[in-house]
Amino acid sequence: MEVSKELNINKKTSVFRIIRNNYVNYRYWRKNWFCMNMMALTAPKTIFKGMFKYTWLYDLLKSNIMVDLYTNKRSGPNYDKVHMHLSFTIKSFSDMYKNALKNPDKVVIIQNMVPPQILHAMGLTSVVPEVAAVVLPKIDQFAGVRYLDAAESKGLPGDTCGLPRLTAGIALKKEVPIGSCIISSNLPCDGGLASYEVIQESIGNIPIYRLNVPYDFRNDESIDTYVEDLKGMIEFLEKNTDGKMNWDKLREVCRNYNKMVEIELERWELAKAEVPPVSNDALWFPHYFAFNVAVANKRLVKHHSKLLKMDKKAYKKGKICFEGMRYRTVMWNPPPSVYGHIWNWLERCWGVGSVMDLETYGVMEYVDTSTPDTMLKGLGRAYMWATMSKHTRGPAENMIGDLLRAVEEYKPDFVIYPAHMGCKNSMSLEALMKEECKKRKVPFCVFRYDLVDSRVTTRQQMREQINKFMIDVMKAEPLDSSLLTIDDTGEGHW
Ligand code: SF4
Repeated sequence: MEVSKELNINKKTSVFRIIRNNYVNYRYWRKNWFCMNMMALTAPKTIFKGMFKYTWLYDLLKSNIMVDLYTNKRSGPNYDKVHMHLSFTIKSFSDMYKNALKNPDKVVIIQNMVPPQILHAMGLTSVVPEVAAVVLPKIDQFAGVRYLDAAESKGLPGDTCGLPRLTAGIALKKEVPIGSCIISSNLPCDGGLASYEVIQESIGNIPIYRLNVPYDFRNDESIDTYVEDLKGMIEFLEKNTDGKMNWDKLREVCRNYNKMVEIELERWELAKAEVPPVSNDALWFPHYFAFNVAVANKRLVKHHSKLLKMDKKAYKKGKICFEGMRYRTVMWNPPPSVYGHIWNWLERCWGVGSVMDLETYGVMEYVDTSTPDTMLKGLGRAYMWATMSKHTRGPAENMIGDLLRAVEEYKPDFVIYPAHMGCKNSMSLEALMKEECKKRKVPFCVFRYDLVDSRVTTRQQMREQINKFMIDVMKAEPLDSSLLTIDDTGEGHW
């Protein structure tokens, strides 16, 4: 009797959940379409013309399919947060491209590790070419192939990291929006640095300023050198654009940035909880977006506050981030762009939640807003410690030390290391990381992949490596064995 009652309640709960999730899905689906349509309607001529020139704009129109892949059948607080964040990102990218196509004279092409806050304070708009390279494979695993092939056919080596190669391919096909000049840097690695040679040449040899971050960037002298470099960049922008530095405006942006830091640190603390209310892409994606490519404006602060509010609400109620979470992990390398929704599979197939990851973990400091120099120092430090570069550059201690600190603080059942074959920096440290984890009795799951090209390692090949680890090392049973093998490899499987 008791059992049948319980079954009835579970059935009602799951029916209620399906109806609720479908409603949430519909609401965001409508919102995303509305924002993509608004991009076209507010600048119909520009967008129409742009679609002939920038063919990746068509791929962006498939964004709702990407949202489905990320959210399909997921549960708990992560489900709502991932929906909310994807929607926010779609709107932000639509606005970025709309502004860039409408006001090309205000556009500066910047690499994704250049502080956009400074450009914003100068009244300039930025376009980050890497955004398309990161987002396209997430939307459709084959959307980046034409650019990768274009880069290789021009002689760029195929065994280097696909991210800068794909970005260079977009430039070679003349599909980077027009800008008045370029700001690049030597981050995150030599591949990123080298790609801007090709990008500058492909988009008409417009003036370029190259920021030069010292190799060993985690010491005080390095930041002073970088501040001088940032001053040189401001001078260059004042000479090559009609932008003028407005320090009060920069102060306002830095204050917003500080609010973001405060929110982010609270989110990190909540992820440490025994019953974590947040994990996986509900933690990784908002950080990646906010602290790499976005300007810290009021809208971004509001969005991040909402995410934190949702985390806190779930925490107070003792609600775990997704139903069936059985393992906490730390993901220590970039998740595959070409399998952007791997989080969905990890949750539903194995009950795995990443409570901290390499691209999120690192320095989170407040910017001192008292003088122009202190602001540049604060922003400089934040961007020298940008995603990937903060671990894949400099001495090995940067990668290993932070991993061990993350293990200590977040107490994972195992570490998952996505071994990106194009990233020689991190690959060279694989054995050492494994060894250090072994000493601490923390299993180390390695799966090999290529960041942006699923022709190198298919999604199923990635899953098989993780399946093997979960079965052989963790002695786990899948939550849903129908997800061990998924047919999503060939053409037609976005
Ligand atoms: S994954 Fe590695 S090689 Fe690729 S851009 Fe990042 S740091 Fe560079």
